[in-house]
Amino acid sequence: MKRYIVTGGAGFIGSALCHLLLSDQETEVVAIDRMTYAANPATLKALEAHGRFRHVEADVCDAQAMRDAVKAAAPDAIFHLAAETHVDRSIDGPAYFISTNLVGTYAMLEAAREYWSGLAPGRQTAFRFVHVSTDEVFGSLGPDGMFTETSRYDPSSPYSASKAGADHLARAWQRTYGLPVVVSNCSNNYGPRQFPEKLIPLMILNGLEGKRLPVYGDGANVRDWLHVNDHAQALRLMAQEGVPGEVYCVGGGAERTNLQIVRELCRVLDERRPEGAPHEALIEFVEDRPAHDFRYAIDPAKIDRELGWKPAHDFEQGLAATVDWYLNNEDWWRSIREERYQGQRLGQAR
Ligand code: NAD
Repeated sequence: MKRYIVTGGAGFIGSALCHLLLSDQETEVVAIDRMTYAANPATLKALEAHGRFRHVEADVCDAQAMRDAVKAAAPDAIFHLAAETHVDRSIDGPAYFISTNLVGTYAMLEAAREYWSGLAPGRQTAFRFVHVSTDEVFGSLGPDGMFTETSRYDPSSPYSASKAGADHLARAWQRTYGLPVVVSNCSNNYGPRQFPEKLIPLMILNGLEGKRLPVYGDGANVRDWLHVNDHAQALRLMAQEGVPGEVYCVGGGAERTNLQIVRELCRVLDERRPEGAPHEALIEFVEDRPAHDFRYAIDPAKIDRELGWKPAHDFEQGLAATVDWYLNNEDWWRSIREERYQGQRLGQAR
């Protein structure tokens, strides 16, 4: 039996990773998740159906709780995803981003180091700490070029600055203590179970409800989109075959402007819900996000060459399937829209 810890396992990417890991019958997964506003109990319920899944409700900043949880789970690898993740919320209130993303990463690295240093030599060599980060740490690209593993760190938002700091901690724990850390810097993910504050689910739900579709600035900002299940595959591969101390850039090769994304979502919604067509009439250009990075794009050549990873999902098909998932899973998002977040504008730095 293989055993894994996934911090942030009740979140968007963490839950996709848990489902992938649990698809192997010889696997047990412990998710450590504090259940912030971004987590959904319905996500956990689906994971619990696997039987080989356990949730530990705890804060990754709680050093003792993390030591206890890691010791009890006795994992073959730890995937560290727990984080505050929404750029706009980091502009309104950076405090949780600093504590969870920096102090929480520190606590996880220390808990992992204590556990790993007590392992027998064979298990010690095989152990991995997969630190999950973002391409946003590299700042903004102009119209040309792509981020690689050697791109300079140049974060623009409190979110990306806190993730950048966490990456430096993770790398330092590998160099200083020999903890077998691998770091992933991944582009924007899309797919099921993403909290509807992020661009794609927000536009889908607003479109469905006939509410305006707010596009920041002129909508020309470019992101490189990757299906969440492709990211999960890359992370699993990094735990199995990633070389300690190495960084892997993970991207989908699907660059689109925000406006292209919103128009494509409107096109799919027009097909699925013709009574609301044309959904494009709901598009409204609004004041831009402060320090809004213009473009992100990832060159995934290294993870392709060294680990044999390639994204499997076609972007337009994956996006249409994501719309269908939200149409078919109202139970998952209805209470969020009613009780936790109604889609109001965040992050204007006022
Ligand atoms: P998410 O916001 O959907 O989920 C984050 C999860 O972490 C939630 O379940 C939340 O409850 C949990 N969490 C937050 N603070 C915690 C704390 N103090 N203790 C324990 N649990 C806590 O985020 P996501 O989109 O799934 O992102 C997961 C990771 O991947 C993050 O580290 C993020 O920086 C990184 N990442 C995300 C993307 C993306 O496009 N979403 C791209 C690249 C990298």
